Amino acid sequence: MKKALVLGAGGFIGSHLVTRLKKEDFFVRGVDLKYPEFSETKADQFVIGDLREFGLCQEVMLEDYDEIYQLAADMGGAGYIFTGENDADVMYNSAQINLHIAQLASGRSRVKVFYASSACIYPEYNQLDPANPKCSENSAYPAMPDSEYGWEKLFSERLFLAFRKNHQLDVRIARFHNIFGEESSWKGGREKAPTALCRKIAMADDGSEIEIWGDGFQTRSFLYIQDCLDAVRLLMDSDFYGPVNIGSEEMVSINDFADMIIGISGKNLALRHIKGPVGVRGRRSDNALIERKLAWKPRYSLDQGIEKVFYWVHEQVVSEKIKS
Ligand code: NAD
Repeated sequence: MKKALVLGAGGFIGSHLVTRLKKEDFFVRGVDLKYPEFSETKADQFVIGDLREFGLCQEVMLEDYDEIYQLAADMGGAGYIFTGENDADVMYNSAQINLHIAQLASGRSRVKVFYASSACIYPEYNQLDPANPKCSENSAYPAMPDSEYGWEKLFSERLFLAFRKNHQLDVRIARFHNIFGEESSWKGGREKAPTALCRKIAMADDGSEIEIWGDGFQTRSFLYIQDCLDAVRLLMDSDFYGPVNIGSEEMVSINDFADMIIGISGKNLALRHIKGPVGVRGRRSDNALIERKLAWKPRYSLDQGIEKVFYWVHEQVVSEKIKS
């Protein structure tokens, strides 16, 4: 039986990844500051602890693993990473975890390490035109991410690549582009656009309006969680180490995305635009490299994925109403 360590196993992608690895018959140990919020973890062992502590990292890495997934990071949606209020925490906390893991995973003969980087590493100057953003992997330099979150991710990519070069670390690096799905934060400040929009729409009275940050013409592409997991597992099973985009090429403006979800809800709602943290004007995954190297394409279209997620958020809203 193969053994995997999932760091950040209490988070959105980490908890889904644990479930996937269990289905594939791995023995899984998870580590996080917290248990998954919305369902029981499927991990065989789950350690609650702070990966900023070197001692904890040493302890959880004592065993021999076949695969280590480093997903733990201090992160959130635009309301968390683009206001500037959390910059020091975001950089310090995540960098510290990555420094520990790169060091401790090096020099092990057979372990493969996955590092979750982000589309936020791409330079702002290539993402000013909402209709034509450029996010091919080789456009990362000269670097100019628009957030400290992106700078930390870029630093840590380089850190893992340096350990690969000098200390035989067998790493795989993916740049995730807006992953969404059931069981991701939908309120509280760390939620991202898909679940935040679903919440606003699920909570709105028919005939009312919902708030959209910015003018809504900013564009993005969103990838459904099951597609993300397929790509991560393919990457880990390959000899290709990246960095590589894992995202969707289906680009949508936030206004059109909101209208799509309103259509699913069956409500009649208007959009009201307000000031808010919005990030770059346009962003879309460029999948040429991953298609070439791994023959991977997403299976779910945006409307197929978001329909599932809208119903999940709707259930959360209803059950919260019943509780209160
Ligand atoms: P998430 O916030 O749900 O999960 C991250 C987990 O890391 C959380 O459960 C958190 O408690 C844990 N963590 C943070 N600090 C820790 C610490 N000191 N010790 C132990 N655990 C700690 O985020 P996610 O959406 O699941 O993202 C997973 C990874 O993918 C992150 O590295 C994130 O930066 C990256 N990523 C995600 C997206 C996306 O769209 N979700 C996009 C780009 C990159």
